[in-house]
Amino acid sequence: MSRLVVVSNRVALPGASQSGGLATALDAALKETGGLWFGWSGKVARAHSGEVHREAHGEITYLTVDLSREDYEGYYNGFANRTLWPLLHFRLDLVDYNAMTQAAYRGVNALFAEKLAKELRDDDIVWVHDYHLFPLAQELRKRGVRARIGFFLHVPFPSADIVAGLPHHEKTFGALSSYDLVGFQTERDLERFQDYIRLFRGGRVAGQGDLRDHDGRQFVAAAFPIGIDAAAIESLAATAARSPVTKRMHASLNGRALAIGVDRLDYSKGLPERFRAIERFFERHADQRGKMTYLQIAPVSRGGVASYRALRRELEQYAGHINGAHAEPDWTPVRYVNRTYPHPALTGFYRLSRMGLVTPLRDGMNLVAKEYVASQDGDDPGALVLSIFAGAARELDGALLVNPFDSDGVSDAIAAAMAMPREARRERWQSMIARIREYDIHAWRKDFLKTLAATRG
Ligand code: ADP
Repeated sequence: MSRLVVVSNRVALPGASQSGGLATALDAALKETGGLWFGWSGKVARAHSGEVHREAHGEITYLTVDLSREDYEGYYNGFANRTLWPLLHFRLDLVDYNAMTQAAYRGVNALFAEKLAKELRDDDIVWVHDYHLFPLAQELRKRGVRARIGFFLHVPFPSADIVAGLPHHEKTFGALSSYDLVGFQTERDLERFQDYIRLFRGGRVAGQGDLRDHDGRQFVAAAFPIGIDAAAIESLAATAARSPVTKRMHASLNGRALAIGVDRLDYSKGLPERFRAIERFFERHADQRGKMTYLQIAPVSRGGVASYRALRRELEQYAGHINGAHAEPDWTPVRYVNRTYPHPALTGFYRLSRMGLVTPLRDGMNLVAKEYVASQDGDDPGALVLSIFAGAARELDGALLVNPFDSDGVSDAIAAAMAMPREARRERWQSMIARIREYDIHAWRKDFLKTLAATRG
C-alpha cells in the first residue's frame, strides 16, 4: 500500500486544540499507511522563511516550515485571504489584487515544493488541501516529482467569468491541471470548473470526470461532498444535553423557543441578511414576539482585514437595532456572542434549539449545517433553515431551503419552522441524518483516496 502524504496550510499536530472532524479523518488515514503531514508551522520567523521542523508521533511524521513575516503577509493574509477567498466566494467586488502578494503566494508554494520534493517517493500518494496551495503540484512536477497528487478544494469554485476577472488567473487556476485528481464539494462546483477549463484554458471535457488541458495533459475532476464525524457529534450531543452549560442555557430561555446560528464572522455567511430576516420575522409575525430567542454565535475571524472589521461593526449595530425596536423588559430577541465554544457546548446548544439558521450567501459545504442535524434528538428534532447557496443544500433535502437574499422568504421559513409539527420535523430529520451517517468524513476520505489511487489506470 502506498504511503500517504497530506499537505495543508496548517498542520494539526497531535495534542493541538483544533481537533475537528477533518483533522481526525486525515489522522486516521495517515495511520493506516504510515505517512507524512506537511505544511506551514504556524510560526512567523524573525529572518528568513524555510526552517523545517520534523516531529514523529507513531507512524506519522509531521514536517512543518516557518515563514518570514513578509511571506506570511503576502501569501496568507494577502493573496489567500484578500484575493482568493473573496474571488472563490463570488465576491469580485471585494477582491484586492496585488502583483506582489501574488508573487509571494507563488514563492511560498515553490518553497514548500522544494522542501517536500526531497521527501517524496514515486509510489507515494500526495493529497493537497485547499486554496492556499493551488500551484503546489505544478511546483512539485518542476522538481521531478512523479508521485500521484490529488487536490481538494474546501470552498466553492465560482463561475468561470468570475475566475477570469482575476489578473493572470491562468497562473493560479491553470496550475490545477498538474494534479492527477481535483476534487470539489459539489457537482455544481465541478461543472463551473469544467466551464473554466473549456472557456478560458482551451481545454475540453473528454468524458466522465476526464479533463484535457490545452496542452493535452489529462487529469480527473470529481465531486466529493465532505462529511462530518457523525458518530462523534451524535454522541457528544447526547452527553451535552445533560451538561451544566446546556442546562443553564435552557433555564435562561424561560420556556421560549431557541433559534441558533453559528458562523465565523465572515461576509460569505450572510449575517446582515440573516439579521434582516429575523427583523422581518418579528415585524411580520407580531404574535411571535416574546416566543422565540435568536442566538447568534459568531467568533471574530481575520480581524486584520478591513472588510471583516466593517462587518463586525455592522452586526453590532444591527443586533442593537433589532433589540432596541422589539425587546421587552423580560425578553431580548437577539443574543449576539463573539466567541468560540468547544464542540461539546455547541452540540448541546444545537440540540436545545428549535431551529438552526444556516444562510450563507456562498459556502463550499457548511459543516455547521451537518453538525446541527447530527446533534438533534431524533425523537423531537429541530428544523434546519438552509441557504440554497451552501454546498450542503445538495444533500440535505429535509431542510427548509431559502434564498438568503430574500429576507421575507427567510422570515417565512422561520415561521414555518416554528409552526412545524413534531412528526414533520422527524420525517425531515430522518432523511438528512441518513445521508450524514452514510457519507461521513471517513467515507469521504476513503472515496477521495480510492479515486486518486485509480487515476493513471
Ligand atoms: P468555515 O469553514 O467557513 O468556517 P464550516 O461551517 O464549514 O465553515 O466549518 C466551521 C467549523 O468551525 C465547524 O466545525 C464549526 O463547528 C466550527 N465553529 C464555527 N463556529 C464556532 C464557534 N463559535 N466555536 C467553535 N467552533 C465553531
